[in-house]
Amino acid sequence: AQTQTPGPTIFDKIISKEIKADIIYEDELCLAFNDIAPQAPVHFLVIPKRCIPRLQDTSSHDKELLGHLMLVARSLGAARAPGGWRLVVNNGRDGAQSVYHLHVHVLGGRQMGWPPG
Ligand code: 5GP
Repeated sequence: AQTQTPGPTIFDKIISKEIKADIIYEDELCLAFNDIAPQAPVHFLVIPKRCIPRLQDTSSHDKELLGHLMLVARSLGAARAPGGWRLVVNNGRDGAQSVYHLHVHVLGGRQMGWPPG
């Protein structure tokens, strides 16, 4: 069950430019911007413009959009973190999701540990 009330999040205000963000890429389907609290030298988020709360809320109808987010993350990751990078999608409470607007974290610029805590 969803633990968060549905509706607009801070990311909608970033999409509408009501709130400023360090935007690094934008197209008709998605937006990428640097995370306000970076956990690595490179840490940005790729989000769909359409509000989908969690990855769990997607279906086979979203294949194209989900593939697009992955390919944008891939291109920006390759350009900004040539040594490699990590994609993270936190889903729901136990996944430590805090903003209920689907987002792909791209982290790089340092050696990552595994497994994550
Ligand atoms: P989650 O924990 O939901 O996977 O990640 C949400 C991410 O959004 C966090 O890494 C957090 O630092 C980032 N974030 C939250 N609010 C803002 C904001 O207003 N601007 C930016 N650029 N990032 C934000």
